[in-house]
Amino acid sequence: MATTPEISIRARSRYEPVIGLEVHVQLLTASKIFCSCSTKFGAPPNTNVCPVCLGLPGALPVLNRKAVQFAALAAMALNCRINQTSIFARKNYFYPDLPKGYQISQYDKPLAEFGWIGIPSEAGEKKIGITRVHLEEDAGKSLHEGFANSSETTAIDLNRTGVPLIEIVSEPDLASPEEAYEYLTRLKEIVLYTGVSDCNMEEGSLRCDANISVRLRGQKEFGTKAEIKNVNSFRFIRDALEYEIDRQIGILESGGKVTQETRLYDAHRGQTYSMRSKEEAHDYRYFPEPDLMPLVLYEKSLAEIRTTLPELPDARRKRMVEEYGITPYDAQVLTASRTLADEFEAAAKRAKNPKRVANLVQSELLGRLKAKGLEIGQSPISMSGIAMSADLAESGAISSKMLKELYDLSFERNQDFPQVYEKEKPQQITDVSAIQKIVDDIVAANPKQVEQYRAGKKTVIGFFAGQVMKATKGQANPQMVNELLAKKLDL
Ligand SMILES: [Zn+2]
Repeated sequence: MATTPEISIRARSRYEPVIGLEVHVQLLTASKIFCSCSTKFGAPPNTNVCPVCLGLPGALPVLNRKAVQFAALAAMALNCRINQTSIFARKNYFYPDLPKGYQISQYDKPLAEFGWIGIPSEAGEKKIGITRVHLEEDAGKSLHEGFANSSETTAIDLNRTGVPLIEIVSEPDLASPEEAYEYLTRLKEIVLYTGVSDCNMEEGSLRCDANISVRLRGQKEFGTKAEIKNVNSFRFIRDALEYEIDRQIGILESGGKVTQETRLYDAHRGQTYSMRSKEEAHDYRYFPEPDLMPLVLYEKSLAEIRTTLPELPDARRKRMVEEYGITPYDAQVLTASRTLADEFEAAAKRAKNPKRVANLVQSELLGRLKAKGLEIGQSPISMSGIAMSADLAESGAISSKMLKELYDLSFERNQDFPQVYEKEKPQQITDVSAIQKIVDDIVAANPKQVEQYRAGKKTVIGFFAGQVMKATKGQANPQMVNELLAKKLDL
């Protein structure tokens, strides 16, 4: 990454950055926010349009109920207070991809306010305030490539016009690019858990703008901020903020003044550059949208929405650590997505030893996935396959060496564990006299457990069965083992 002229560590330590983020998230409704056009991504240009989203004269918007429910759900997950009444407003500006000449958004009465997200910091959890969450419509897209003549012409695709968005505005509580990165990671995770968006950055379902200024440490007033727009990955946002901090400190240290402006980030050069200065900035002339009634959310509808709020990632991790005796790190990996966490929990609940399921994921599964460049969702071994292997290992039916070999075969053949095990499992010993001999030996060698069993602790039979399976390398027929043991112990 390229950087600005060297800023000395000493100079840098005299300043502190102040960062606030604005995140736009597309909601996963089937239709647009004010009309019934499809929101499907990737349709041929200008096919998902109608008089409403084209802004034709006389067309009137009708609010999509699902968009409101999704927005409220996301706001709840972000610990916001939902305003009973919120007002849609026209944000006026001219741009070729905005056919009405204004965007319907919310201004002084947003849907929700006063939220927060917890991020990890050296001093424990740090709460980053969320100023507001409001509903608005997306604009269309200007295309500069991918069609004939694209070097001379710009094309407009209005399929995206009117796709529902929430804008999530943070307080300027973020004190480093690293904290901004953490905030975005948490935010995305929470929104994904609620299921209101796919948060796919490549398709533009999650977009982020950052406001950044620096000030001398201890100073109360904010410095002049720059806004960095249209950065398409969290890593690039972190890099852009790092660059911008040094650039602004460099200006101040050489006696200059930071200009308030909008800047873009060039990921190849690792630098931000000016897009427009404050003089050219928009005055949006907001006013209440006359074609829409105030949005009123009664307690009853909010309560209904609240019932669809899932357990959120942080709470889930804490519970999983307690419930399954796994480490916080294990819990982090296993909650990477809601589906994965659901699958893990279903498997762990079925397995005899949940901790072993977690361990197998960590020690045997993730490494193999990484080596093959697979995501956990593409694993040939399902979570229930892992649970089965954990039970087999727990009972001594397979050794850890055998388990590793079976996992290798699963990956080689792209088959789930049960299939591979069925084919490769050790030949069973069904010779009664051979098993009887081992049962006799093991019962004789463990008088203390025999006593416990005979005193009424019948579950001790599991211990004996495990010992027999171990002694036969898992090859004894389990049903026979149980029958012979019961007979022997009940004498
Ligand atoms: Zn439409």
